[in-house]
Amino acid sequence: MELENAFQDPQLCHALLQRLTRALDGRTLRFMEVCGTHTVAIFQSGLRSLLPASVTHLSGPGCPVCVTHDAEVAAFLDLAGRDGVILTTFGDLLRVPGPGGKSLKHAQAQGARVEIVYSPLDALNVAAANPESTVVFLGIGFETTAPTVAATLLTARQRKIRNFCVLSLHKLVPPALRTLLDDSQCGIEAFLLPGHVSTILGLEPYAFLARDYHVPGVVGGFQPADILLALCLMAEQRRDGTAAVVNAYPRAVDDAGNPRARALMEQVFEPTDALWRGIGRIPQSGLKLRPDFADLDAMARLDVTLPEVPPLPGCRCGDVLRGRMAPPDCPLFGKKCTPATPVGPCMVSTEGSCAAYYKYSER
Ligand code: SF4
Repeated sequence: MELENAFQDPQLCHALLQRLTRALDGRTLRFMEVCGTHTVAIFQSGLRSLLPASVTHLSGPGCPVCVTHDAEVAAFLDLAGRDGVILTTFGDLLRVPGPGGKSLKHAQAQGARVEIVYSPLDALNVAAANPESTVVFLGIGFETTAPTVAATLLTARQRKIRNFCVLSLHKLVPPALRTLLDDSQCGIEAFLLPGHVSTILGLEPYAFLARDYHVPGVVGGFQPADILLALCLMAEQRRDGTAAVVNAYPRAVDDAGNPRARALMEQVFEPTDALWRGIGRIPQSGLKLRPDFADLDAMARLDVTLPEVPPLPGCRCGDVLRGRMAPPDCPLFGKKCTPATPVGPCMVSTEGSCAAYYKYSER
């Protein structure tokens, strides 16, 4: 904890801010963070208000709840309505609106068995305690979550718990970054890469940012000095006309990532196309269970399909998640859409960019 506190030191932050201003030397820096924890850290620490005016902060598709597609929520609701099924989920998915504004919270109020768990292993224990029901764990999240879900599936096999399965809707960060850079409207000049996801991936999966797009990518931690150092490294690359993927969070992230976690993930899952809220289908950006694990795959076992659904009326989450629009520019922001009455998922999750803007910005 003492080490973490050192990265909040005001003098260190002041020196880094001066270094950033020197590196910018009047240039712009339009950077995107791709991690909900960064979104909150930048607001909570007050950093956003301290950044030079030429720095534009964009929040990308790094909040797992926010990128869960309407069609995926429709599939959850379908499962929740089936006899003999218990849905287990992380709590922040409960209020995410799907078609017609309906959420799992509504389903729960109407008698569906939806249980909040704090880890996939908790979900497995729910299955062990309810052998007469089929227990489905809603597998959302990125490369950080997928290895623990893979380990849980292997444990289910070991413990011979046969009434457990996972609806895998996990998403992969690098293909989404490529899609964002292919969008001419967002003009991203650098990425603040996600610290947590990078503990698993390491640096190599992001190499294409510099190689194919000449865009710097810096893996950053979550304390103010970590974020400022990452911004300095981006601005210095832009000043020097270079682009590289670098690790500014070595106390947590190894350049090679975590090969054991990746091996677990690869043993159980394989890449597949995935739907992202407001962005649409991105090739090879999701994870599905390998055929060997069909007995633990809710898609196959319960014949789950993702229906065509219209987007939430008026919600601009897609533009927010792509960096095309700041949350306050959505006509519903702070009026019809607030954390108490969320219209879209970016206002539901504590890590959603609309919720962060609402909580920490002056309105
Ligand atoms: Fe969607 Fe609400 Fe954000 Fe608008 S303010 S983009 S409706 S979540």
